[in-house]
Amino acid sequence: LPLHKIIMVGSGGVGKSALTLQYMYGDFIEEYDPTKADSYRKKVHLSAGPSSSAGGGGGGGNAAAGGPGGGAATECFIDILDTAGQEEYAAIRDNYYRSGEGFLCVFSICEVESFAHTQEFRDQICRVLDDEGVPFVLVGNKADLAASLRKVSTRDAEAKAREWGCTYIETSAKTRQNVEEAYQALMAKIRDR
Ligand code: GDP
Ligand code: MG
Repeated sequence: LPLHKIIMVGSGGVGKSALTLQYMYGDFIEEYDPTKADSYRKKVHLSAGPSSSAGGGGGGGNAAAGGPGGGAATECFIDILDTAGQEEYAAIRDNYYRSGEGFLCVFSICEVESFAHTQEFRDQICRVLDDEGVPFVLVGNKADLAASLRKVSTRDAEAKAREWGCTYIETSAKTRQNVEEAYQALMAKIRDR
């Protein structure tokens, strides 16, 4: 089966590990070593046919199931590299990035700096891969937290995603909201390349 490698990037504390573990095991792990980078492999079923998740989809649920007339699902392995700050070192970072076919770029909707920081991740990834069209999904995590804690509007995040020509999805690693959808959207982009 084909193997696709994706990389979780984003500031510390935004929920990269929580999203990865929720996706892998269906569990919310509250405390995960913030310095630990690890990789995970999972067999996934991709719905066939053109992706329905193009464009800024907002926080809405993109149906992961096949579109109109959706045919057979295709199977593949997904390798997820959950980074943890080691990419501060340029050489390590560039090696990580070069090994990835697609990127989930995560920020917390409750932390403005983490949103601002996504620009740096985006710039570095595009520079290292020399590719503006790299499969990329912008993820606003912690959508379960109280509306009063929100610091980044859906509108601003969607505008950023439009600028980059990528999808924006709001997730919660705690409730599993849109977790499956975020990974599926990225896998669809990798497949459709
Ligand atoms: P990482 O440094 O990006 O890997 O972030 P972690 O996955 O370690 O998460 C950092 C903190 O945020 C932990 O205390 C998590 O329990 C918490 N967290 C992660 N995702 C969510 C979420 O979707 N909702 C809430 N409420 N907390 C989250
Ligand atoms: Mg982590």
